[in-house]
Formats: sequence, structure tokens, C-alpha cells
Amino acid sequence: MEKVWSDIEKLLIHKNRVITELPGNGSGTAIAFCAGIHGNEPSGVLALKNVFNYIEQKNIPVNGQLVAFIGNRNALHRKCRYCKEDLNRMWTAENIKKLHGSGFEEHELNPEALEMIEIDDLLQKFLNNLNGEERIFVDLHTTSSPSIPFAAIDQLPQSYKFALQLPIPFVSNLNEFIKGTLMHYLDHIKFKAIVFEAGMHDDPASIQKHEAMIWLVLGMSGAIEEKYIPNYKGCFTLLQGLSEHPHKVFNILYRHNVEDNSKFEMLPGFINFQAVDKGMVLATENGRPVVAPNSGNIFMPLYQNQGADGFFIIERVDEG
Ligand SMILES: [Zn+2]
Repeated sequence: MEKVWSDIEKLLIHKNRVITELPGNGSGTAIAFCAGIHGNEPSGVLALKNVFNYIEQKNIPVNGQLVAFIGNRNALHRKCRYCKEDLNRMWTAENIKKLHGSGFEEHELNPEALEMIEIDDLLQKFLNNLNGEERIFVDLHTTSSPSIPFAAIDQLPQSYKFALQLPIPFVSNLNEFIKGTLMHYLDHIKFKAIVFEAGMHDDPASIQKHEAMIWLVLGMSGAIEEKYIPNYKGCFTLLQGLSEHPHKVFNILYRHNVEDNSKFEMLPGFINFQAVDKGMVLATENGRPVVAPNSGNIFMPLYQNQGADGFFIIERVDEG
């Protein structure tokens, strides 16, 4: 992990927010990749750097317009989820209105608002240069507890169809429970958008899984021909092999909100997607037990001290 952070430092010093921008041959699918919107999640940033270095070094032809960028540079530098405010909860209608019109008040310009302004600028420039109709957005994340790789989307047909092609399970109604994600903003500028969670923050294997997902998306969208992708089938089987539920769809039933000043602690040992029964004690909050309000699968249990999502309960909604 030391090596991961020293690589991140080098990248932050030498690069701007954009890791790579490849205009390709000017047609094909437009794909935007983001990583590190949570600063304690460096894995996706390194994976993007590795994949795009490979594409550039091998001079691989690109049929599409690609951009890969860093989300929260400041928080990455500090190795924390965010500095003042969660940058992946700030893309609300109200803030977008400020971005595109009235602007932020002086006192609102915290480190994350500044990141937001720069990211929007970058996206607007990317949009202005697009030729094709098809747009894909992938936001790369990792989790605080052990997890199989999975995706989450907002409830939109275009994103649903796209996520179903990937050899991993996905949660299809994130927007009902989490507001203001960057994905939500990209949905509304007509991208097929997914959040991809590779595995644990500190697990070096998360980088490999992020790389596999990046190659899959590049291959499936036709942006890069399969023959140029190193071990395309291997990328598929790596992700599929790690999951009990490839191509399966889950919905969130419940989100446990952690209030600002409360002391929330998950009981040890919960694994993402683990089955839980109604009434089971999952955590303590201010010394009192927190029980599962429904039976289902536990999702994203919080094992770090920053974040307001204590845990979610999900259930499978597809047939078969
Ligand atoms: Zn994250």
C-alpha cells in the first residue's frame, strides 16, 4: 500500500486532474472515467493510469472519445474520503444550478466546491467536442469492507441495459437512497452511467479488478477492438469468477443514516452481500444495538470513520 500512495503522490505532482484524454478518430462512443472522487480510494486512479499508459505506449487505435480524470485531488493528497464535504454527494440540482448560473457564495467555496467547479469545466469541454450519440460514464470506487466486485446505477433504462452486460451483480436504485452523486449528474447529461466498486480500499487486487473493468468497458463499447486488449477474456472471467451473483439485479430496501455526531460502529466481520435476517444485530450506535429492519443482504457496511451511510439492506429483484 505504501507503494500505491507514493505512486499517487507522483501522479498528483506531475499531472493535472486529467489522467488522459484521447480524442480517437473523432467518432464512436464517448467514455468518461473518474476515479478518486473519494480520496481514500486510490486504486482506480492507478488502474486508469496503467491502462491508458498501455494504450498510448502500444499506439492502440481508439474508435471513440475517451477521458479519464481524478475526482477529489485534494482529498487524495490527504488520503481521506473528503476534506470538508463528500464530493460524491454534492451534485444536487441546487448545486448544479449554481455551477451553471448564479455561482457559489464566497463562504460556500470549500475545497470540494472548488473540485466540483473544475470537474464540471472539464466535462463541459468534453461534451462540447463530442460527435457521436453514445455516452458512457464509469466512476471507480473501493469499499471499506471486503466485497465482491459490483456496480450501482440510478434507475434509468439506458444504464440498466449497460450494467446487465457486465459480469457482476448490480444495485439498480441508488438514486432513491443517495442524492447528489457525480453519476446522477452524468445520467442527466445522457450518459449510461455506473459506479463500479472493485473491492477493499487497501487491497492491491482492487487495482487489477479496476483495470479489468476499464478494459471490459473499452472492449464492449467498441472503443478498442478486442484483439488489442491484453487478455480480454481473462478480464471477464476475473470479475465473473469473484462473484456469486454475476448479471443479477438488487434493489436497496433500507439505508441506515449515521447522524453527524453519533458514534456508529459495525459489528466486526460483515461482508458485502452477506445474507442477514430481520432483527439481527448489525452495529451499535451511541452504545445501543442497531438491528436489521428487513431480511435480505447487507450492503456497504461502514468500516471507516468518515461517511453517513452506516449500511444498506438490499434484496434480489430479477427472476431466476
Ligand atoms: Zn467511494
